[in-house]
Amino acid sequence: MPTKFSYPPYDYDVAVIGAGPAGMTAAIRTRWVKSYKAVPCSTVIFDKAGLGGLAKWRSCMLTGPSFHLMGADVVGRFRKDIEDLEIPLILSRVIKLEMDGAIKIIHTDAGETIRTLAVIIATGFRSLCNEQDYLKQIAITYMGYEFFEELLNNFFSMEGRQTALIVGNEFTRNLVDLIEACNRGRHAVIYLIDSNAADTPFPAAAGSVLPGKIIRYEGQGALEGVRVLLKGGEERFIPCKKVLLDYNSYELSPRYDFDSAALKKDARGFIEVDREMQTSLPGVYAAGDVTGLYATVGRSIGDGIVAGFSAYKRLFKLKFNCEPCLFAYAAQDVKITPGFKDLPRPAKNLRPKLLVSAENAARIAAEYGGKRNGIDAFLSSCNGVKTITEHLKDRSLEENELFDFIEFLLTKKAVALHL
Ligand SMILES: Cc1cc2nc3c(=O)[nH]c(=O)nc-3n(C[C@H](O)[C@H](O)[C@H](O)COP(=O)(O)OP(=O)(O)OC[C@H]3O[C@@H](n4cnc5c(N)ncnc54)[C@H](O)[C@@H]3O)c2cc1C
Repeated sequence: MPTKFSYPPYDYDVAVIGAGPAGMTAAIRTRWVKSYKAVPCSTVIFDKAGLGGLAKWRSCMLTGPSFHLMGADVVGRFRKDIEDLEIPLILSRVIKLEMDGAIKIIHTDAGETIRTLAVIIATGFRSLCNEQDYLKQIAITYMGYEFFEELLNNFFSMEGRQTALIVGNEFTRNLVDLIEACNRGRHAVIYLIDSNAADTPFPAAAGSVLPGKIIRYEGQGALEGVRVLLKGGEERFIPCKKVLLDYNSYELSPRYDFDSAALKKDARGFIEVDREMQTSLPGVYAAGDVTGLYATVGRSIGDGIVAGFSAYKRLFKLKFNCEPCLFAYAAQDVKITPGFKDLPRPAKNLRPKLLVSAENAARIAAEYGGKRNGIDAFLSSCNGVKTITEHLKDRSLEENELFDFIEFLLTKKAVALHL
């Protein structure tokens, strides 16, 4: 049975906000499910910092007592899958998530507007920009608190008198005494504080406190300073050669760069989810550090997979009016008779959307054979807007030929079916 709703054309089935381990695995799951008869979702990822998130950081590892895998190597595998699957990455920051009935509208800082059916939020504790280029000059508060003293002594061990930039939120106030003790008045300290509170009382520190956040690290080879966006909207360049990111403060309270007011959060500001990673808004999922539980790569990967499956399942049910039949979901109490089809024949009001480049589509078409002209005509207008009924009106392929070819494209994970 076709879906009982009618949807205006939209751009992607799923939008993933954030490309750390959680967002990467979520995106891969929606686009690629290990089943012959799975229907890929059309999926897009947003992240200004590119792929990898914090797991690219040099000290990030997946560890057990007997093994360690470098975080960068793990996300490197995911990067390859994302590239091979041709999942588009938009290098922008999401600033607003708007609900328009069943459609979710994503707005970015570059002025893009993307319409989707499902959203997976995997933004971690805060948005990144180009930290990756200056990791040697960026220190981070993490591990046990007793290590912070050593960390700060190293941080302030720079030659001459320099500016030290401390980046955090209102919870960074807990570090001020230790910072003063380790600095011993040698360096000028600027606190860049991204606080949700209107006027956060900050202890009188031996430095200045600016409300705002970093938008770019700058310098030829080595860091020379950071460009910041102050709370009132003014941009300013702060010359400095070292930055301390107080991740400890973001673990206590994450910072969203996008308007997420409609989402239910816990007391600390993390997004609440159920065991399917579903948030308080239908069709919106969250995964990884943004949900506030045990910040580790392994858990983020697991969350991403669950959120991806959940979004996939929701969309499959909307498109086919039945549960997907895959090992990864709860088994179903259905009679399996001869000729049983895991994938029902798609309704004619669905809109095929090609997910691969023209070059890869041509390769797949050549492998299929069939009526070359008809197939080429179908592929050239397979844009997620034209319905199967409209494709059939073109008469380039007969009904059975068209359905057979769509099924072949599905097995190659090369086409999505939009509502
Ligand atoms: C220094 C350090 C060392 C660590 N070491 C370990 C370790 O050894 N082992 C371990 O298991 N874990 C470690 N962790 C934790 C681990 O890195 C994180 O738990 C994991 O990366 C979280 O994954 P995530 O996908 O939820 O978020 P992240 O990796 O933080 O990725 C979130 C992504 O979302 C993007 N984003 C945020 N807001 C927006 C927006 N508005 N629009 C678009 N994109 C946005 C960000 O730019 C970022 O790329 C470490 C963390 C740090 C900082």
